[in-house]
Amino acid sequence: MTSLTTSHAADLVAALLFILSLAGLSQHRTSRAGVVYGIAGMALALTATVVLAAQSITAGAVTLVVLAMALGAALGLWRARRVEMTQMPELIAVLHSFVGLAAVLVGWNSYLEVEAHGAAQTAVGADLLGIHHAEVVIGVFIGAVTFTGSVVAFLKLSARIRSRPLTLPGKNALNLGALGGFVALTVWFTISPDLSLMIAVTALALVLGWHLVASIGGGDMPVVVSMLNSYSGWAAAAAGFLLDNNLLIVTGALVGSSGAYLSYIMCKAMNRSFLSVIAGGFGIEAPSGSGDEQGEHREIRAAEAAEALAQARSVVITPGYGMAVAQAQHPVAELTRRLRERGVEVRFGIHPVAGRLPGHMNVLLAEAKVPYDIVLEMDEINDDFAATSVVLVIGANDTVNPAAMDDPASPIAGMPVLRVWEAEQVIVFKRSMASGYAGVQNPLFFRENSSMLFGDAKQSMEDILTALGTDGRTAPTPATRQATTAGR
Ligand code: NDP
Repeated sequence: MTSLTTSHAADLVAALLFILSLAGLSQHRTSRAGVVYGIAGMALALTATVVLAAQSITAGAVTLVVLAMALGAALGLWRARRVEMTQMPELIAVLHSFVGLAAVLVGWNSYLEVEAHGAAQTAVGADLLGIHHAEVVIGVFIGAVTFTGSVVAFLKLSARIRSRPLTLPGKNALNLGALGGFVALTVWFTISPDLSLMIAVTALALVLGWHLVASIGGGDMPVVVSMLNSYSGWAAAAAGFLLDNNLLIVTGALVGSSGAYLSYIMCKAMNRSFLSVIAGGFGIEAPSGSGDEQGEHREIRAAEAAEALAQARSVVITPGYGMAVAQAQHPVAELTRRLRERGVEVRFGIHPVAGRLPGHMNVLLAEAKVPYDIVLEMDEINDDFAATSVVLVIGANDTVNPAAMDDPASPIAGMPVLRVWEAEQVIVFKRSMASGYAGVQNPLFFRENSSMLFGDAKQSMEDILTALGTDGRTAPTPATRQATTAGR
């Protein structure tokens, strides 16, 4: 009895620590404290669960649980130390798939236990059998959707499959039919809990999870990741009901609701319908945008880019995923410093989904010690491009694609973008004419005022720094030398 009360108290404290953790993580300043609260809450929750369980299971089983936890912790630490920041969304997708799979296994275990021993012999009790059956089916369904949805998200994010949306004929009817089938199977299973129904629900949910995420295009993947985060929370809450674990219910509900709210905020920022995205792109027609080239592009060399920068009044830098891949943030910061010393106004324009995780660019720029006050959000900078001399698009693509505004048939139509093309001159740093994450060609590259600086973004930046010279003045290029000679 005492240990049960102690365990409930520990659950309560752990739940409070999780709430403090979420509050801390909502701001840069307090995010470290947020992580510490989260770790403390999880350590307390695991200890309390194992100590309580140890009283009702054999010493051998406790040893197995402790071994499993040690193995999981070792694997988790190993992966977390090695993972690149650009791989974080894929890692998160894999972790969500584990939560989904765990919920499916808990549901199946609970079903088989009751089938084998009868409700009266288990914690369920005969009175609550109908509710228990419904819990099993709902938990397995949410878990299986989360599992396969997260696996597809992982495959898309790690570029193992194409990020373009799968558009099966009648995909909306398929999704709605699967949901209707789930409701019917749940009612049927509650009345007659047959093994074949359990298999049918699991298979249906596995296929639905796959189809829902496969139907969503690359540009909407940030919303999908946070949506799967939410699903994994609800899957954990469902497992909490089956395991009679209050803390799992509370934690699952916290993750589920905060993930849903984050998805909603991201949908608003991306001008997407929340309901359409969670329903696997419901109402979105097959995109007609292609990855084909759309005309002639101009190339520019690093020395010429340095020349343009040296003469600019104002420069805006819009970084994207390519800056993270190239790890170009340090030469970018150095260029910023040198241009500012020379009196050029330099600012950064950050798109809400630039890179591969929310805040990705802000973290990289902060790491390179770029002053906070010149790093602006998309809405703060968008009206200033028209008065900007040079924009440097460093490894960004989808987030600066004018097709989002000009082409209603584009898969990224309606997504707000950085209007970089309004500047006098745009220099795009990338390695080829390849499309961005959404798989859509970018008409920006073919505009009159755009030039491509091909190559790894870090190397190109270093070449510009060399050409610019240490005091921010360009070393003379062949073109300037010629112009100077002609002027004499
Ligand atoms: P994109 O992914 O659209 O494009 C990145 C560009 O960087 C590519 O075109 C690539 O071209 C270039 N690149 C890659 N490596 C290098 C390198 N070493 N040097 C120079 N260039 C390089 O980037 P954005 O940041 O503009 O857009 C992010 C996309 O990712 C959006 O579609 C967003 O929806 C999606 N997304 C965002 C998430 C988030 O939370 N932020 C999560 C999941 C997806 P090339 O190969 O020719 O060099």
